[in-house]
Amino acid sequence: MKSKISIQNHLGAPARSLAFLAVLAMTSYSAPAQSNAAPAERIEGFKDHLIYPGSKWYQHDAARPQPDVVTPGKTFSQGAPAPSDAEVLFDGTDLSKWQNSRGQAANWKVQDGYMEVVPPNGNDIRTKGKWSDFQLHVEFAEPNPPGNLHGQSRGNSGILINNMYEIQVLDSYQDKTYPDGQEGALYGQMPPLVNACKPPGEWQTYDIIWESPRWNAQNELIQKACVTVLQNGVVIQHKTEYIGSTDGIGGQVAYRGVSKYVQHAPEVFVELQNHNANPVRFRNIWIRDLHLAERQ
Ligand code: MG
Repeated sequence: MKSKISIQNHLGAPARSLAFLAVLAMTSYSAPAQSNAAPAERIEGFKDHLIYPGSKWYQHDAARPQPDVVTPGKTFSQGAPAPSDAEVLFDGTDLSKWQNSRGQAANWKVQDGYMEVVPPNGNDIRTKGKWSDFQLHVEFAEPNPPGNLHGQSRGNSGILINNMYEIQVLDSYQDKTYPDGQEGALYGQMPPLVNACKPPGEWQTYDIIWESPRWNAQNELIQKACVTVLQNGVVIQHKTEYIGSTDGIGGQVAYRGVSKYVQHAPEVFVELQNHNANPVRFRNIWIRDLHLAERQ
């Protein structure tokens, strides 16, 4: 309305009409202002329900703040040899410590010192061993080139503790998704403190300290699952508690469902997620039992 009044005023001033019409013509036929702006970012997300009653955020909320980007140091624990009390879960040669969910041999391919899901279908694979509280070292590399894939479709895998609690693996290098689903998130619950991703194709490290949830003799939850995660030497989760099982992975909570705890023994396995056969590579995996309960 304001500009219309301005135009009428100008048109009513003959001495300046030619100059004004020239400007008007330029204005009318030049490209719209928004075409010079960066295209709107495509951040997928949902607003089905709050993550928990009273939370500021919805589960998978696209509006949740994106974690700051931190460029990690060139190396941290890449190729770290296993400590003497660790169990080596994958040394680059075989999958003898792994199985699928039906207890059958793990069918991922092993080559050049890494393992990778076999398309088109593939399976999640899990350790034969179980531990209650542990330190886990895992190295992974995202598919390179990533192609035109974006968000949850871009190099998706995950560390699925007991097929219940996911630490997301995703290519979030210069790519955004809902923050509680990006690389390093406790999927559907808590984004990483920062985005410490390396470019696709580069080997990255996860050093994970896990504490299993505990229930008492009356079946009351007395300790939530808790995790600390370093990605490429950067703390991205610090003693973060799960609010329950991750949605959409193990059947306890449906995808986009409200998270809740389902009682289980403290001894848990470690699982690597097959997500639509995204070819994420893994290598150098070892685990140390922390024997936390024995200290009490
Ligand atoms: Mg995942």
